[in-house]
Amino acid sequence: MKAVVFDGKLRVDDVPWPCRAKGDVLVRVSTAGICNTDHEILKGYMPGFSGIPGHEFVGVVEEAGEPELVGRRVTAEINCGCGTCELCRAGMQRHCPDRTVLGIAGRDGAFAEFVCVPAENIVRVPAGINDTHAVFIEPLAAALEVLEQTSIGPEHTVLVIGDGKLGQLLALVMRSTGCRLRVAGRHAEKLALLSDAGIETLRTDRLGEQSYDVVIEASGSPEALQDAVSRVRPRGRLVLKSTYAGGVTVDLAPVVVNELTVIGSRCGRFDAAVAFMQSCPLQLERLVTATYPLDRALEAFERSARPDSLKILLDMG
Ligand SMILES: [Zn+2]
Ligand SMILES: [Zn+2]
Repeated sequence: MKAVVFDGKLRVDDVPWPCRAKGDVLVRVSTAGICNTDHEILKGYMPGFSGIPGHEFVGVVEEAGEPELVGRRVTAEINCGCGTCELCRAGMQRHCPDRTVLGIAGRDGAFAEFVCVPAENIVRVPAGINDTHAVFIEPLAAALEVLEQTSIGPEHTVLVIGDGKLGQLLALVMRSTGCRLRVAGRHAEKLALLSDAGIETLRTDRLGEQSYDVVIEASGSPEALQDAVSRVRPRGRLVLKSTYAGGVTVDLAPVVVNELTVIGSRCGRFDAAVAFMQSCPLQLERLVTATYPLDRALEAFERSARPDSLKILLDMG
């Protein structure tokens, strides 16, 4: 089958079909999305990863142990736990020390014609959610994870730093809480998408002196981290959503002096994302910059790295 392969270098290649292990489901991928994590992998964020990247996808079940799954439109939770450790038994497969992660660690991902995933990771996509929206279930779950970790409501002022893919989804999630929300970014067109949705925006270089109850850093830019730290009011909360290849240097004195709570936040529950999509209309098509066929995946990656791009999709055809 055709797939995007990364082994220190990215290429489109013909690779053997994935061999379905017991308990796995074989999915014919329809559409997949390129995420910042995929770019971080290319830069070495997950040392040692080699294989097929891709973890945001929707497809149709081709083969499964459970015959009634065949033909269903699905996506999948990306963290695959060992199933036996203390964390897995407590329902925290996402934190299993021996986990593999689809297209990120120890397991081939979805930038291919077919992908294998454990049956327990499969999430059915309801008919009301089209393929374009379904590709956003994984990143939307990551945005919703913030609300699983900390409570935010109309009484709070919230600043999201970052107008990229994740920043846009975080803005939609935060808006649903009724909080007093502002989103800071560096790209006029991306900020315009947010203002069109009725969200107050400002340029990152015009943040001024104002501080907020909650600041969410989602720009992916190490320089924004210091900005984020200094914009949280005393006893406020700083939520970190970006992962960086390599380390970053930040002056943590304001965290101590202002007694801030720092919350690291990664993946979230898919069922929450599906429910959120069904309960509020989201115009996610507006976040898609372009769609490329699998053959032109390298071009798609280049396009995705451009600062003016939001989500780039791969259509497996
Ligand atoms: Zn992602
Ligand atoms: Zn485990």
